[in-house]
Amino acid sequence: MTQSLAPNERGDSHPVGEVVLEVRNLTKHFPVGSFFKPKLVRALNDVSFTISRGQVLALVGESGSGKSTTARLISRLMPPTKGEIILRGKDVLKTERGRPSLNYRKEIQMIFQDPFGSLNPVHTIGHHIQRPLEIHKMLKGGNAQDRVYELLSTVGLTPPEDAARKYPYQMSGGQRQRVAIARALAVEPEIILADEPISMLDVSIRMGVLNLMEQLKEERGIGFLYITHDLASARYIGDRTMVMYTGYVVEAAESRELMEQPAHPYTQMLMAAVPNPQGGMVKHKAEVRGEIPSLTDLPPGCPFATRCPKVMDICKKVMPGVEQLSPDHWVRCHLYGPGETMTTGTGQKNAVTTAS
Ligand code: SF4
Repeated sequence: MTQSLAPNERGDSHPVGEVVLEVRNLTKHFPVGSFFKPKLVRALNDVSFTISRGQVLALVGESGSGKSTTARLISRLMPPTKGEIILRGKDVLKTERGRPSLNYRKEIQMIFQDPFGSLNPVHTIGHHIQRPLEIHKMLKGGNAQDRVYELLSTVGLTPPEDAARKYPYQMSGGQRQRVAIARALAVEPEIILADEPISMLDVSIRMGVLNLMEQLKEERGIGFLYITHDLASARYIGDRTMVMYTGYVVEAAESRELMEQPAHPYTQMLMAAVPNPQGGMVKHKAEVRGEIPSLTDLPPGCPFATRCPKVMDICKKVMPGVEQLSPDHWVRCHLYGPGETMTTGTGQKNAVTTAS
């Protein structure tokens, strides 16, 4: 069993268990345009990482960085162009061709940004929780109602009898996101893919949902892929953080190291926009400027070159490779050396990886 310590921003240091999910060189290119003018949206390029039992991996970046594509590929809502998804040592894209098996759907659950959109307005909350229990035959002779109440209590919706009787429109945004989490928990998953789970919630209730995820990680050993555009929440809950830009992972490290010593100019730019909890000035001041380039028309060389305050001549010609800064800190930038220069059809060596 792989063991490591993963301290996050709060200073928690808990043992992280064995690797549950491994993603290797995940790539997604979408053909767009007309027959005469075909184009390719390079949404995701050679992304590799692992998620261990009881670990939160935060995936951070702006819109169009490839974060949600990563979650959709892992949940198998669409197939990748290339890459491997390995669940408990089994390469599921090879062993389960086509639709994911019931077991895969049980082990990998997803919660979405818009909790209202993910709930059916004509069914009660109790129905939403009971349904996956029936589909996945999780009742094992037990009483469905008791299990529904137990799950609602776990996510803090009390008294559960009242919550179960309500319809989605009768709940607040934070309560609906708790329902979505309870529904995911019903099938006892190993991994939850949380795609911007707090971005549509009021600031006052965001912390409650993050603390609930933290509790589930600690008490049940659930691994989370936490997708966000907000470095502050990644710093709060993520054991590890990967920063993405135009479909590439540009930096990956244990969260505290990444926040204290951001190496990539893009990470520094994101950090500059994060309020400092100590109230002082941010250490890595960088101007937020420019727009993310079109994914169908990325410039040659480094995709961040059009916005980077530290751009050099080489950046406009050669895609930077990956440099290892410390045992657990990787960056894709020419400032830190030649790295493994990427050409095409890159392999594992060129992927910024995170491992427990
Ligand atoms: Fe900036 Fe060059 Fe590094 Fe890209 S490779 S982030 S352009 S310094």
